[in-house]
Amino acid sequence: MAKLKKVMAEHLSKHRFEHCLRVSDYAVKLAKQNGLDQQEAALAGLVHDYAKERSQADFLAKIDATGLPADLKKWGNPIWHGVVGAAFVQDELGIEDPTILQAIRLHTTGGGHLEMTTLDKVVFMADYLEEGRDFPGVETARRVTDESLNQGVFYQLAHTLSYLASKEQVIYPKTFDAYNDWAQYLKQ
Ligand code: GDP
Ligand code: FE
Ligand code: FE
Repeated sequence: MAKLKKVMAEHLSKHRFEHCLRVSDYAVKLAKQNGLDQQEAALAGLVHDYAKERSQADFLAKIDATGLPADLKKWGNPIWHGVVGAAFVQDELGIEDPTILQAIRLHTTGGGHLEMTTLDKVVFMADYLEEGRDFPGVETARRVTDESLNQGVFYQLAHTLSYLASKEQVIYPKTFDAYNDWAQYLKQ
């Protein structure tokens, strides 16, 4: 873990490295609350944004090299650093555990309720709730998630979607699909 922290610090600006450390800590807290292996949560939280500061050219080359669908190219860093970022983590950090790689892949968009493992949910929520986050509603989001990890996931999906729509931003279909799946699962 100490070695990995050093590599993360070398690849990221100070503020983003510190975000990753806080996500790792919050992931451990959520792991304890949800009966998940704390080491696994700490590791996935630490590396989740490993690729966040890579260039557009790096991401485009990685999409080709790993045979990811070419239509991913029309998206950008917010989507790539998770979906494609997992391939950087595998190739450069040597993390092969598919459960960790999936948590990285899903950390921005979420996934359906059957697709997301407890680790995926923990990383998704730790990224949103780490102690440095101070958006309006973060305290409510923390409380909801302490009560129920699943309700926390749905809260984040609903609020991120409405935030993006309020800014008239494009929304990745997987984010929409995840929202609909959780709404059907929890609300009907
Ligand atoms: P960060 O990497 O710690 O900053 O957090 P995330 O990986 O969760 O989010 C990165 C950015 O992606 C945030 O600004 C989100 O608002 C944005 N984002 C999340 N979902 C979508 C989406 O479906 N479409 C777009 N365009 N942006 C999204
Ligand atoms: Fe991220
Ligand atoms: Fe993050």
